[in-house]
Amino acid sequence: MEKVAFLGLGAMGYPMAAHLAKRFPTLVWNRTFAKALRHQEEHGSKAVPLEGVAEAEVIFTCLPTTKEVAEVAEALLPHLRPGTYWVDATSGEPEGSRLLAERLLERGVVYLDAPVSGGTLGAERGTLTVMLGGPEAAVEAVKPYLAYAKKVVHVGPVGAGHAVKAINNALLAVNLWAAGEGLLALVRQGVAAEKALEVINASSGRSNATENLIPERVLTRAFPKTFALGLLVKDLGIAMGVLDGEKAPSPLLRLTREVYEMARRELGPEADHVEALKLLERWGGVEIR
Ligand code: NDP
Repeated sequence: MEKVAFLGLGAMGYPMAAHLAKRFPTLVWNRTFAKALRHQEEHGSKAVPLEGVAEAEVIFTCLPTTKEVAEVAEALLPHLRPGTYWVDATSGEPEGSRLLAERLLERGVVYLDAPVSGGTLGAERGTLTVMLGGPEAAVEAVKPYLAYAKKVVHVGPVGAGHAVKAINNALLAVNLWAAGEGLLALVRQGVAAEKALEVINASSGRSNATENLIPERVLTRAFPKTFALGLLVKDLGIAMGVLDGEKAPSPLLRLTREVYEMARRELGPEADHVEALKLLERWGGVEIR
């Protein structure tokens, strides 16, 4: 059976690679190599040095940004074989990925951007949504390998997947912050956040933030670390590039980026994205609960 390889066993990559290992011979590589060894132990994958992944027919990456993907690709370039597919699950940057696609094609390697949504829970359950950018034939070739996905949508040429992902995450950011502002005001006037959410979630103001993130993470005060605030701010920066490139009217999304930049400065990039609401709570002098 054809081999696959997964590079970047972080919060997302680790469980995604576990789904691959259930179906395909899977090579894994991680900068902190101990994680690759743990993956081998737990999921029956095979930990290999970086050059070792060039043996695979399909190479997956899930790294913080396009910069790290390009660095890894450059290091691997002399080892890569023509006909290999490179499926980049990073929430990356469209223009940088188009350049990377050209560079890889020099070695006969076909790059597709394939960012995912659904969070760490979706990665563990194998129910991620994948938004693919690339040529139709390559998309069809890699689809059978997306063992961690429940939904796969081909959104356009290389870069389009990253663009859609960035805008999706900008919407997540808007919804989360806006819900935080509204709930904070309600709490201050004596309405329990839980009651307010019971109404909102049966009404037109609902979103993933009101249905899942706020009840599970803010009201409980659990604030688990699943998706770093620094990564969300990175996505908002990519979204700005998409908007600027199209000269699209976008006052609200720009303001949202400013707000999250501020949250990152106050709370640090390692805070979870939902912790941004702690900044609002600090300003408002009450907790959302
Ligand atoms: P993590 O920070 O948990 O993992 C990052 C991974 O990248 C680790 O394997 C890390 O290795 C590796 N890495 C970091 N820097 C380098 C480098 N310079 N060279 C090689 N490897 C490096 O991030 P996530 O898994 O949360 O996110 C990965 C991507 O997925 C990001 O683009 C993010 O925006 C996106 N994403 C995240 C979601 C989430 O809910 N967390 C949801 C959807 C998309 P090491 O172990 O050595 O640190």
